[in-house]
Amino acid sequence: MICPQCRSPECLRSRRSGVIDFFCSGLGLRPWRCETCDLRFYANRVAVYFSRYAHCPRCGNFDLDRIASSRVDQRGFAIIMRLLGFPAYRCDPCREKFFTLLPYRRIVPSMIPAIERK
Ligand SMILES: [Zn+2]
Ligand SMILES: [Zn+2]
Repeated sequence: MICPQCRSPECLRSRRSGVIDFFCSGLGLRPWRCETCDLRFYANRVAVYFSRYAHCPRCGNFDLDRIASSRVDQRGFAIIMRLLGFPAYRCDPCREKFFTLLPYRRIVPSMIPAIERK
């Protein structure tokens, strides 16, 4: 999980509290807290803030390779998406190949080390 504010990968699941959290969990969103900047945010596979950019549906990776649409497994909606000319991407870590219309933006975790906690 990458923090939408400082892009630190040091994020932990936050405990649910209050009505908003209850409502969001009904939408499949879970509260997270960034260990680096202390931002509390909601996320599904990726932080809500980043979900408008192309990401791997399996692991939430944004560092994708653009591939030829013929390389995506031709099954289900993929057949339709290929015919419609959707851009195809490949996720390197989990080898997932998929179509998406979301704009591509390479979001990688920042290299800022987490603040040491005593
Ligand atoms: Zn942060
Ligand atoms: Zn992936």
